[in-house]
Amino acid sequence: MGQPLCGARTRVGGTCTYRAMYGQRRCRRHGGSTPVVKAAAARRLAQAKAAKTIMGMELEPVTDPIAALQTRAGETLALKAVLLQRVADLSELRYEGRAGEAVRGELQAYEHAAERAGRLLNDLARLGLDSRRVQLEEAQVAILVAVVGRALAASGLSEEQTITVRSAIATELRLVEGGKVA
Ligand SMILES: [Zn+2]
Repeated sequence: MGQPLCGARTRVGGTCTYRAMYGQRRCRRHGGSTPVVKAAAARRLAQAKAAKTIMGMELEPVTDPIAALQTRAGETLALKAVLLQRVADLSELRYEGRAGEAVRGELQAYEHAAERAGRLLNDLARLGLDSRRVQLEEAQVAILVAVVGRALAASGLSEEQTITVRSAIATELRLVEGGKVA
């Protein structure tokens, strides 16, 4: 695959006709070799490679989002632990970069992983609360149905009247469920 031309504006007014560095958009002379640009290029290459790998693969559909999220959270927590160890192994957390003092990449990577893990755990906690709320509502409805059944049995209504009342209650419950009645 041929590299595209750099295309940076030159001092004489034209555009640079050197080839961009591999996986990058600019040539060496136009910033293609600074650490930040190199890191961005490495990330783009890795993403392109991964995208190419999954093309033509039979992909598993996500049928259980909670389980998928739990797996993701487990991976991120493991990654966070590994990165924390790397940070602990560093003798200095900062270094003198070209643009002044900078925080080491290991620390940045750890912070990103910690943020991601925090967000995933937060999502999981919220999903857990939601499903617990649904369980509570189902339990309340079951109690309500049992109470109504006993009240109808004790009321001395005819079988026909009981059926009418039951169906009226069912209609009202559906309206409440649909949010039409508070
Ligand atoms: Zn150039």
